[in-house]
Amino acid sequence: MNNNAKKQTAGRNALGVFAPKFAELNDDVLFGEIWSRETELSPRDRSIVTVTALISGGNFEQLTFHLNKAKENGITRSEIAEIITHLAFYTGWPKAWSAFNIAKEIFKDENESSVDNGIWDKGEKGSSDWFTGTVWVKPLLTPDEMENLYNIGCVTFEPGGRTLWHTHPIGQTLLVIEGKGWYRERGKAARLLTKGSVVAIPKNVEHWHGAAKESKLVHIAISNMKGSSNVTWLNPVTEEEYNEVNNQN
Ligand code: MN
Repeated sequence: MNNNAKKQTAGRNALGVFAPKFAELNDDVLFGEIWSRETELSPRDRSIVTVTALISGGNFEQLTFHLNKAKENGITRSEIAEIITHLAFYTGWPKAWSAFNIAKEIFKDENESSVDNGIWDKGEKGSSDWFTGTVWVKPLLTPDEMENLYNIGCVTFEPGGRTLWHTHPIGQTLLVIEGKGWYRERGKAARLLTKGSVVAIPKNVEHWHGAAKESKLVHIAISNMKGSSNVTWLNPVTEEEYNEVNNQN
């Protein structure tokens, strides 16, 4: 996608009334006539030049916007780390530190998500055989520790994350400790989950649970085992099924 062809209005939005000429130069000349000369110099190269100039000058207020633009223009996480390491020797150590602190947020790895459950470490990323989207599973008490009666864990669903459709042979209890999400049994209306919701899931009933589209959901899951560790995993919850629930409220 060509991001630079998008009409730039940041200048007019920020300064159109206070400094209309500056706003016009920013939007129509700098972005409209210079950044857009993509045949002469690629947007990616222009981003490297611009980020370098901003860090050199210590202009960190403008750096956030331009690091996001650099990412859009194809600069990777490892490349920006290399660029700033290189610059440290020419612009000075403190400027590199300041730049890194901004860059690490913008180029955050998915595995370093700041979504947490507020109590324990969030655990391991759940398998796509069980979940859609990003979901973290923290075992709290394993069947081994519970005489094979229960399996107790904390599940942290990032926004949009949910289980596949599934059943539990002896049922499951969910205790919601944070966020907002949904519990849905096949053929029934979805139930909204919020902090404090308690869900008793009957045995062998097809259902799914997960976060709302715009919010994380954290629940403790207590699965009854009684010697049987089987959860029967079925089909994924489709985008259509998921959107239907999210549009319900
Ligand atoms: Mn379940």
